[in-house]
Amino acid sequence: MTDLKLSAESIMTRADRLAEFSADEGQLTRAYLTPEHRAAHQQLAIWMTDAGLETWGDSVGNQWGRKVSPNPTQPTLVLGSHSDTVTNAGKYDGNLGVLLAIEALSLLRDVTLPFHVDVVAFADEEGTRFNTTLIGSSAVAGRYDRNWLSVADSDGVTIGQAMEQFGLSPEQAGMDARQPSDVQAYLEVHIEQGPVLEARNLPVGVVTGIAGAKRFQCQVKGMAGHAGTVPIHLRKDAMCGVAEMVLCIESYAEQRGIVATVGICDTVKGAINVIPGEVHFTIDIRSAKQALLEDSAHELMQKLADIAKQRHLALTSQTIYQATAVECNETLTQRWSNVVEKLTGHTPCLLPSGAGHDAMAMAHLAPIAMLFVRCDKGISHHPLENVIVDDVKVALDCLIEMIKTFDTPADSILAHHFKH
Ligand SMILES: [Zn+2]
Repeated sequence: MTDLKLSAESIMTRADRLAEFSADEGQLTRAYLTPEHRAAHQQLAIWMTDAGLETWGDSVGNQWGRKVSPNPTQPTLVLGSHSDTVTNAGKYDGNLGVLLAIEALSLLRDVTLPFHVDVVAFADEEGTRFNTTLIGSSAVAGRYDRNWLSVADSDGVTIGQAMEQFGLSPEQAGMDARQPSDVQAYLEVHIEQGPVLEARNLPVGVVTGIAGAKRFQCQVKGMAGHAGTVPIHLRKDAMCGVAEMVLCIESYAEQRGIVATVGICDTVKGAINVIPGEVHFTIDIRSAKQALLEDSAHELMQKLADIAKQRHLALTSQTIYQATAVECNETLTQRWSNVVEKLTGHTPCLLPSGAGHDAMAMAHLAPIAMLFVRCDKGISHHPLENVIVDDVKVALDCLIEMIKTFDTPADSILAHHFKH
């Protein structure tokens, strides 16, 4: 068996071990600033030390390990993902990226690089306990919001109080943010959390960007009436209008290459024998291309207004949430593609991420790039979340090769990054 296969098996064993650090026996739930957060990071620190890394914890509870360069002539390369989980989670979301990075540096132990390589396990990405996502990576990227300190969990414990109980100083939170001049890039490997790679029978894929989102709350008003007495052609049925709108949203999304979802749809004061007079529904639109997201949202709302007009219905809508799309660094994405093609022999699959990741916050600090690993049926945030050891081996191989590509005169990734 090759070293890489053994390493991939060791990563799988470690993922099982890491999943034991949980609030509940028999299922995995590991939230920010909890005893299981501490225990998991102590275990990660042991594995980091075993890999020959220097270790430390930072001001918000992230765990770091560094492969020290004896003579760094380039800024530090940062690898990472998150170690926290959702409630009743799978073992690989976030954790796989951290374990892959530690193992990659362990295998590169005898290779001297002209830069430090840091591995970081972000302590809070999911926001399970405090409903605030990306705390760990935001602190590192210099985007720590001090209002977070007063955000409370369901027991009324604030982040500031929880930090003190954990042994951290709230006053120091985010004060040790990394500087852009000190970080040449951030790389994250993560499970896909979707079915695209599995459908294409590919072990890994290169991420082009992380989707931005817009969410709308919509109200359609028609005229309620007796389900037995009003002929169809005289009705202003709000539900029939919404049905047409929902199908319009689906076909428009497909045509424009975005995703759009109507997740909630309710008849106001609906009854079995009443023509729906008012229906409320939501729209969630996402794209990794911000301009496309903006255009599509605008055009789509126009189309829905046309449907309402034809049916003599009144449509109103409010934007209730927006997140800006983050594009991965083009140079680095091309490098990932070259690496994947070289090591797998397949034309690389380029795909956007529909879910949020720490890389979104880290993009404020440095050029980012991500690699996705195929996961079983695209299932995530669930105990059935799974990856296969052969795919982990490919991801490890690609990550090691990718790290090595930085050991060349820089092709001005930073210049490219800050041009935008
Ligand atoms: Zn994740």
